[in-house]
Amino acid sequence: MRYRITAGTVMTLDPAGTIHRPGQVSWENGTIVSVGTAESDRRPVDQTIHVPAGVVMPGFYNGHNHAAMTLFRGLADDSPLFEWLQQHIWPREARLTADDIYAGTMLAAAEMIRSGTVGFADMYFEMDAVAQAVADSGLRGWLARGLIGTQDPDGEKLAESVEFARRWADQADGRIVPMLAPHAPYTCPPPYLAQVAEAARKHNLGIHIHLAESHQELADITRQYGRTPIELASDTGIFRNRTLIAHGVHILESDLPALAGLVGGVIACPVSNAKLASGILPYRLLRDAGVPIGLGTDGAASTNTLDMFQEMKAMAWLQKLRDGQPDGFRAVDALRAATRGTAAVLGFPGGELTTGSPADLIVVDGRQAHLMPEWDVTANLVYAGVGSDVVYTVVAGRILMAEGIIQSFDEQAIMRDVVSRVAHLTD
Ligand SMILES: [Zn+2]
Repeated sequence: MRYRITAGTVMTLDPAGTIHRPGQVSWENGTIVSVGTAESDRRPVDQTIHVPAGVVMPGFYNGHNHAAMTLFRGLADDSPLFEWLQQHIWPREARLTADDIYAGTMLAAAEMIRSGTVGFADMYFEMDAVAQAVADSGLRGWLARGLIGTQDPDGEKLAESVEFARRWADQADGRIVPMLAPHAPYTCPPPYLAQVAEAARKHNLGIHIHLAESHQELADITRQYGRTPIELASDTGIFRNRTLIAHGVHILESDLPALAGLVGGVIACPVSNAKLASGILPYRLLRDAGVPIGLGTDGAASTNTLDMFQEMKAMAWLQKLRDGQPDGFRAVDALRAATRGTAAVLGFPGGELTTGSPADLIVVDGRQAHLMPEWDVTANLVYAGVGSDVVYTVVAGRILMAEGIIQSFDEQAIMRDVVSRVAHLTD
């Protein structure tokens, strides 16, 4: 099947920032075969979608998520972190079944598809259920079980992670990429991180880890080991594999040598970092050092929504506050972080609309009061856009949402299921 979307605006986000008005994008077998002005490709197609007031752009890659935590959205918000974890989250997580986690991940998938996300990196448990949700929803998933080194003395959970990777590698038409996920340096001591690094090397897997998230972590790790979280992680060898560093808020200038050989990059989670009062990513420091920077939401239990438009706004606002000036971090920087930035961290070729790229794209309905007039489409998307403006979501060439209706699964059934499951998690 060959498809084409013709639209009022096609924002390619290619390196030159090309915008076609009006424009078209065609794809076949999951790959973009042409991008250009409206009449640039006249070859016949099987299906054409016309969205005269639409903006076609690359879909978002959410670089850090715990998707099933949608089940805990809004639970005991505004509590201090450890009280929230110990009294509210952990006791309920202990009761979650694989079916609960499937339902929570499908709810997250509905929210992500609705708000223009085409793929996400996830760290949780019962990952077979998460992988099944990725397979069923049509999204892409970079999936890993969160490993707590202090609770894995024999490396049994690490071995199970490697097994999970074997089971799911290249499943769901190549939309699932398994990874290893040592949770953080304060839950995974250095010898355990070294073991994970070795397993990643042996089985050719990427690593997903929370690093340099809070001031407390920086202070504790530095006191305990005489090394910063980044230096400590680098010493264990994990950066010799592709590594996705979630948060990175407290990366210091003195950490740059330890990051020099990093394959992968840092995923900013500005809403989570602001809500938990963790701090602001040193974006310029990392950008100037050539470190790829992507964007993610973190779990909905701490961030509340999986809307990447909200993350783009928050990232821009916080970077401007950090810089003390409004022109250093621009709207297009936020758009690139949410698309090509995360894809680059993951080592995936998506994030721009160019011939040969994966057909992962979205259409935003521009015919709405809050998106008019259109002096600057980039500024409108980042500073005025919201997730519910998305009307089409296409992943690997498959239309997962059309005219605002999810096509790949029954969204109403998932919502009913989640409501009945949550009833069992209230005390
Ligand atoms: Zn997280």
